[in-house]
Amino acid sequence: MIVVMRRNAQEEDVQHMIQQVESLGLKPTVLRGTERTVIAAIGDERQVPVGILESGPGVDEVLPVLAPYKLASVETKSERTVVRAGSLAVGNGQLGIIAGPCSVESEEQIVSTAHAVKAAGATALRGGAYKPRTSPYSFQGMKEKGLQLLAMARAETGLAVVTEVVASEDVDVVAEYADVLQVGARNMQNYRLLEAVGRTHRPVLLKRGPSATLEELLLAAEYILDAGNQQVMLCERGIRTFEAHTRFTLPLATVPYLQAKTHLPVVVDPSHGTGHTPLVPALARAAIAAGADGLIMEVHPNPEKALSDGYQSLTFEQFADCMIWCRRIAHAMEMQL
Ligand code: PEP
Ligand code: MN
Repeated sequence: MIVVMRRNAQEEDVQHMIQQVESLGLKPTVLRGTERTVIAAIGDERQVPVGILESGPGVDEVLPVLAPYKLASVETKSERTVVRAGSLAVGNGQLGIIAGPCSVESEEQIVSTAHAVKAAGATALRGGAYKPRTSPYSFQGMKEKGLQLLAMARAETGLAVVTEVVASEDVDVVAEYADVLQVGARNMQNYRLLEAVGRTHRPVLLKRGPSATLEELLLAAEYILDAGNQQVMLCERGIRTFEAHTRFTLPLATVPYLQAKTHLPVVVDPSHGTGHTPLVPALARAAIAAGADGLIMEVHPNPEKALSDGYQSLTFEQFADCMIWCRRIAHAMEMQL
């Protein structure tokens, strides 16, 4: 259930109610909005004397949350969450554009890409240093050296760095360098990893598993929120279907559906979602038109030579052209970019 505080509630009222929630054996999570504060009380609610909470100081009302994902639900927090990390702002009318190579490959590659995507209008740099590859024989990423190169590219361009963390034991080192921790599709239901990124103070980009339902995605996000990290973006990156012409099938209905269910921003990945460079710009535009809060796209100086996902990466020129059209759609959607 949620304890909705009055607009004029004092901090001591909030603290008092946190203690009350704890004393009833429930776990309090405080969600502070610009309008009012809400305390989510999570646990077995069956025996809770709601009247005790309702009569607390500064309390407006106590409401049940029907959705299984309590903290992610719009029932708990109606204000849209804005995820911020340096140059990147995603949500509530702010469109984030995360662009860069699938994998960090060299200083020259990542720094030149950072400059090119920034010039074209990207607001964050992506690049995998730890790669979750389908085959153990494929390039696995430059690991910590790759993180250092990402930090170098950030120092040169000012772009926030989004990079994947593949395993719980790598969370500390990745969080030391990255501005946003990406949890990849293959790890969406790695609950220990979700808890570990939830304990950091870095925003998280959580990608949908290719066979996961939207409820499973929201419950995965719930693990991160429940661990104490409220800065979570959800990412639709395509799902497995019978269709073989595209790498995955990119369902854009995900965007308005999730936005009706959660306050968390929704990002779309048209690169993995299609798996073919020529299809990426159209799906990028369509995602913005569908109301996406952000895009994540793969860009490489020479896709033919890329060590991973070259077939779905845009060249610098293709990305710059794509951004011209994205900006037009964003303008029509009254999004800030
Ligand atoms: C990636 O972003 O390069 C990646 C591996 O994505 P996904 O987890 O969506 O497959
Ligand atoms: Mn990739």
